[in-house]
Amino acid sequence: MALRLLSVTSLFCILVLAGCSGGPSEHVPAESGSLEDKVAEIVELRNKIRNGFASDDVEAAHGPLHAVGDTLEELSQLAADSGLPSASKETIEGHINTLFASFGEVDKTLHGQEGATYDEESRTIDETMEKLVQICNASQ
Ligand SMILES: [Zn+2]
Repeated sequence: MALRLLSVTSLFCILVLAGCSGGPSEHVPAESGSLEDKVAEIVELRNKIRNGFASDDVEAAHGPLHAVGDTLEELSQLAADSGLPSASKETIEGHINTLFASFGEVDKTLHGQEGATYDEESRTIDETMEKLVQICNASQ
């Protein structure tokens, strides 16, 4: 019986593998983590950035500042793939764009370009982050 189960399982695996060879264009929705988890990651990065600037440790803030861009992009993808109503997706996308812009301004300053300081952007960042947390947690 165990043997039979095993062969059924391997047949299933072969079928699944065959099904997966449909080409790279096949869209596979991201399964790693929920919107809620992704937003929690972003909050954590924001805290590191904030603490870094608060203690004048620019290096401690700069790494997370770059990481937050990637994480925002992942959140955008997760939201697009989710079953949320399009109005919610648009709202989330709007918040993501606001955060991109704010963090981007701060990063510019760190690269010696004309940007903003974290203090100047922190209000926008905190308020937008709060809205993002609310909408993503409510949508689960
Ligand atoms: Zn940078």
